[in-house]
Amino acid sequence: MKAVLAAILALALTGPVLAQPSSNAAAIRNKALTDPTAWDFLASLTTEVGNRQAGTPRAERARDWAVARLTELGFSNVHVESFPIQAWRRGPENAQVVGLNGKTLKILGLGRSVATPAGGIEAPLAVFPTYAALLAAPAGSLTGKIVLVNQVMTTEAASGYGALRPARTNGASEAAKRGGVAYLIRSLSTAHTDLPHTGAMTYADGVPKVPAAAISTPDADMLALMASRGRQVSLKLNMSSSMGPATGWTVVGEIPGSTRPNEVILVGGHLDSWDVGQGAVDDGAGMAVTVSAARLAASGGRLQRTLRVALFGAEEMNYSGQAYLDAHRGDLATIVLASESDEGAGGLTSVRLPARGIGAPVFAPLAELLAPLKVTVAAQAATGSGDDVAPIIGAGVPAFAFQVDAGHYFDWHHSDDDTLDKVDPARLNQMVAAFAVLLNLAANSDQDFRPAK
Ligand SMILES: [Zn+2]
Repeated sequence: MKAVLAAILALALTGPVLAQPSSNAAAIRNKALTDPTAWDFLASLTTEVGNRQAGTPRAERARDWAVARLTELGFSNVHVESFPIQAWRRGPENAQVVGLNGKTLKILGLGRSVATPAGGIEAPLAVFPTYAALLAAPAGSLTGKIVLVNQVMTTEAASGYGALRPARTNGASEAAKRGGVAYLIRSLSTAHTDLPHTGAMTYADGVPKVPAAAISTPDADMLALMASRGRQVSLKLNMSSSMGPATGWTVVGEIPGSTRPNEVILVGGHLDSWDVGQGAVDDGAGMAVTVSAARLAASGGRLQRTLRVALFGAEEMNYSGQAYLDAHRGDLATIVLASESDEGAGGLTSVRLPARGIGAPVFAPLAELLAPLKVTVAAQAATGSGDDVAPIIGAGVPAFAFQVDAGHYFDWHHSDDDTLDKVDPARLNQMVAAFAVLLNLAANSDQDFRPAK
């Protein structure tokens, strides 16, 4: 009897008090695993909006959809933050082999590419097996040529992409410096399909601007084979596009905190996509995960801190991150933590916390809470998250970052293959659950994550 009483007393004194935050988070985690919000968000986005390139009428539709959706989901202070962008709009594009098999090639112009001159470009092809080989080519050696870099992207998806991204962003100017008249890049894709993968590029100052496009991986292989068989390969390239001032929109919603409403935890994804596919994995998934997670994190009772969801409006051409910093320099100190989810819906494997969150009492239950989701807490601190939060993180906002299983992400992204059927609802909900747990703990804490002064 005495022992029972002691046990009850011990439970009353310590049990509920200590167990409450993590048992609440565990309940949220379990609820998240079957919550339909994220999938429904994606189903609505892909069927009612579709792809939504910044600066196009489809982006306006996405903006209105996002405002309605966040409102419907019960977010407060739902509003639009607009900012100026230079919008690139694709026109008709086509490319053919001249002579030989005469094949029509599968291409997609890169974002910011100039058009070909009226009548197109017909020129001999120069093929490089790697981007480094192009960089090693001497000045003037590519005069009058269409240049193809046929470097295969490795399946170490994210690192392969990081290593090859300069070939997409800077390749056209590197070709032009050596006399090239147009630039083709083997799609930055880990799949081998006939669908090209687009993406943004930029032009170096003082170098002629030549048209640039991605080509499907089988077409790139075929052109390389033609050249290796000693054939004189010429291509005919026609590309049109326009570039001009437009407006971008980031759509924001909040779940206000109770006792610390001016301490904001910011999460989100990006609302814009390329003009192909549905933008389901890039980055409908990131929005669906963070919107659903914020809502679930607050579902077990009011949180102390405010949760803010930002659906960034022009990530692909890299405008919305800087625009967000510019608009919020004055209130940046109110953002206590930030993260963007922008690597698809493949499921989470680990999380990196801000340096000051590692070992902090607020996250003491985190590893145990995430273990059933097979998500580990990394020993390294987060140094960044998605591109849209990079500028505010650079300006001192602490970050956390979940690592995504991106094994298939680069099979689909920036192509017509980025469609909802690539999203596995169970993996999506695993992501929601992990984000919701972390948000619940962090928003019910007074932990300062900025480095101690
Ligand atoms: Zn993205």
